[in-house]
Amino acid sequence: MTDDKHCPGFESNKSLKGIKIKCSECGKEWEIFSDEVEKHAKCPACGAVVEPKTCIVR
Ligand SMILES: [Zn+2]
Repeated sequence: MTDDKHCPGFESNKSLKGIKIKCSECGKEWEIFSDEVEKHAKCPACGAVVEPKTCIVR
């Protein structure tokens, strides 16, 4: 009795959304996925590593 109609990975992907953050070093704004907010993100412009939750653009 296995239920393989639902793939857990697919379900979690549906809840992802883009979040805009701003680099504290150079001011570059870019988007990350919502599951990356708890991790560190690397600025595509200057390469600085930032904490996304501290620099979300509203
Ligand atoms: Zn930067």
